[in-house]
Amino acid sequence: MNKEGYFGNFGGMYIPEILMTTIRELIEEFNKAKADPAFFKEYVDLMSTYSCRPTPLTFAANLTDYCGGAKIFIKREDLNHTGAHKANNVMGQGLLVKRMGKTRVIAETGAGQHGVATATMAAKFGFECTIYMGEVDVHRQRPNVFWMERLGAKVVAVTEGSRILKDAINEAMRDWVSNMDTTHYVLGTACGPHPFPEMVTWFQSIVGTEARQQILERTNKLPSRVYACVGGGSNAMGIFSGFFADPVELVGVEAGGLGLDSGHHASRLKSGDASIGVAQGYKTYFLQDRDGQMKETHSVSAGLDYVGVSPILSHYKETGRVRFEAATDKEVMDALSLTVKKEGLIPALESTHAFVQAFKEAPGLSPDESIIINQSGRGDKDIFTIADAYKDPAWQEFIKTKAEEYNA
Ligand SMILES: *Cc1c(COP(=O)(O)O)cnc(C)c1O
Repeated sequence: MNKEGYFGNFGGMYIPEILMTTIRELIEEFNKAKADPAFFKEYVDLMSTYSCRPTPLTFAANLTDYCGGAKIFIKREDLNHTGAHKANNVMGQGLLVKRMGKTRVIAETGAGQHGVATATMAAKFGFECTIYMGEVDVHRQRPNVFWMERLGAKVVAVTEGSRILKDAINEAMRDWVSNMDTTHYVLGTACGPHPFPEMVTWFQSIVGTEARQQILERTNKLPSRVYACVGGGSNAMGIFSGFFADPVELVGVEAGGLGLDSGHHASRLKSGDASIGVAQGYKTYFLQDRDGQMKETHSVSAGLDYVGVSPILSHYKETGRVRFEAATDKEVMDALSLTVKKEGLIPALESTHAFVQAFKEAPGLSPDESIIINQSGRGDKDIFTIADAYKDPAWQEFIKTKAEEYNA
């Protein structure tokens, strides 16, 4: 077997032969970009004028007092344009698309956040854009669909199969095979066939590079631990990249859903419920049954609700370089309330998983140690889910009134 694009036992390129040419072209362009300091400079310039780079590192004084123990610092990826670290990846890929001379981008999205980020990038660069989404997700994520369409993207509701993310992935693949001369497939996380895990990590590594420099400036030493939530793994790989060579403990936090014993979760690396398999172009741990059918996952946060995980993180799970934990939906809602009240920060439900674990561990560390939590995104987008979870009566009334206005 071709060992290119493997991280230990994981990764690879399990793709139809017909895509080999376009993947080769992408690998070549990516390698050229990596070797060209002008490319990364262009990327950093773009992110500092169009997004909010460098994002701040915020000292959470009140949470530090409250937990007692290590100083808690928060890396503010929520301040990126479109509200999350996803901007780093899509804008980076946009620059590569321009270099390849392609004019059209496609993407698939479940929660819709990656779709909005990709449509934003396409608007900025003047690319044509098609977003594939399961029909079920189109209905669940109307606000995101609304923005994708306003941004000029064509949103295709996929009616095949169970009409969710995996079906959208199949459709996007079909489109790519038919249109690869003009079209680039913008993968949203550090998953999929080579070179995506490595390439997405490279763009996201800007988070870790900044965080390392910022914590050294602020505390004169390295943090003891760095926490990040893990969906596909891109924000975790991004911030961890700054610290792999250091004696810093790296902690990835997955969606524990209703609890790891409940069967309703999306924990691939902590739960022991996942097994190694090949799907969607790469080899990793998947939540699948014995026949290789993907299981249903559950999380309060749509962005962590995924059956696979970055092959790079599967590798670091096996080597022990990254420790994996899981946070339940309930723990996430509690940690969110605490963070909003104590610091005035509204982390995305995804990001809040990392906060849960940090709050559990900070009291066990000493006050001259510090830890960093990656706030991968902002929680404003989660208002429907959060208000539902709090059963906020005034919010329910507001929704009802709005609906009545339309019916009138
Ligand atoms: C999409 C998303 C995630 C999950 O993706 P990763 O690739 O695991 O980073 C996490 N946080 C936020 C805010 C997201 O939008």
